[in-house]
Amino acid sequence: MRRWMEKFLDKVGSPELDWIQVEVSSLCNAACIYCPQPLLYKKQHMPFGLFKQIIPYLAYTNLVYLQGWGEPLLNPDLFAMIGACKAKGKRVGFTTNGMLLSEETVCRLVDLETDILSVSLAGTSQATHNQIRKGTDLAKIIENLDRLKRIKTQKRAMRPALHLAYLMFAANFHELREVVGLAKRLGAEQVVCSNMTLIMNETLYREALFNRQEKQQFVGVLDAIAEKARKENLVFAYSSPGLQNKSTHCGENICYSCVVSVTGEISPCVFTSPTLSQTDGQNGLKPLLHIFQNRPAPCYPLSFGNIADESLTQIWNKKEYHQFRIFHDPDITKTDINALPVPESCASCYNNIVGTP
Ligand code: SF4
Repeated sequence: MRRWMEKFLDKVGSPELDWIQVEVSSLCNAACIYCPQPLLYKKQHMPFGLFKQIIPYLAYTNLVYLQGWGEPLLNPDLFAMIGACKAKGKRVGFTTNGMLLSEETVCRLVDLETDILSVSLAGTSQATHNQIRKGTDLAKIIENLDRLKRIKTQKRAMRPALHLAYLMFAANFHELREVVGLAKRLGAEQVVCSNMTLIMNETLYREALFNRQEKQQFVGVLDAIAEKARKENLVFAYSSPGLQNKSTHCGENICYSCVVSVTGEISPCVFTSPTLSQTDGQNGLKPLLHIFQNRPAPCYPLSFGNIADESLTQIWNKKEYHQFRIFHDPDITKTDINALPVPESCASCYNNIVGTP
């Protein structure tokens, strides 16, 4: 009776989320030049026992995205995790570097009716992609995605829907024009182009589109590709490389989603996840440094609680988490927001100033 009562009370005030993002692994088999993963202090898979503690809270969302700072397909429990989410009637997706999509893996993903398989690209030529996404190989990825297309056809399966996630750099922008043709050939339903908003060193700083003089030209090209994609019935989503000069709302939908780190910590976004910390060389941790507006700045970790210790409802309704969301709530007017201090974790984040021309 007591447990039933606790469960009942927990539903009162529970969040209504568009998605829950779960970091199932912080290990990776690649070494992309822009990724902080090699610096992380905690490289591990999420244990299935911890994942099971999240399952009751899947009731608060329809989509579970199994993604963090690592490669999800490395976690041997990934299929069991997908199965557990599907058993609850949830849509499930994840992003992969595309290198581990063997015949057996693709068959299992199709049989589990995984809804979204997003594959990261950083170029449409092998030379460009492989140079940026080191440790991956575009030819191998394309071979694997041809396999996905074939197996879906053989099994008469509509899922997983293939999405291509293209990270835009100054050095790979010219190849973006080819992405519509590649997506159509591979049977992709969507192409999502994003800006590099976490810049790990000064060399990469000039690669971010919003730090370039040619910003307006980039916008024109993106608009033209979007038009071409529309004619091909392909969803083409992109974030504009424009910058505002002041923090406003976060573009990451943090009022209707949350991130569970590989150790169970609940954060608003992957950029505030405690996973994004490095060791201080002794026994402690220190924030990772990135480059923001031409200066080194810390990524301040921010956890509002651990799913192993508290319910998601309890964590979601904590005063400090509520206040954090208020700052980013798009329904609150700019005048009100100007009266609030920018949260420390967001003060040096491009995600609340990038995206408008
Ligand atoms: S603005 Fe804040 S909440 Fe949004 S992505 Fe950046 S750190 Fe996360």
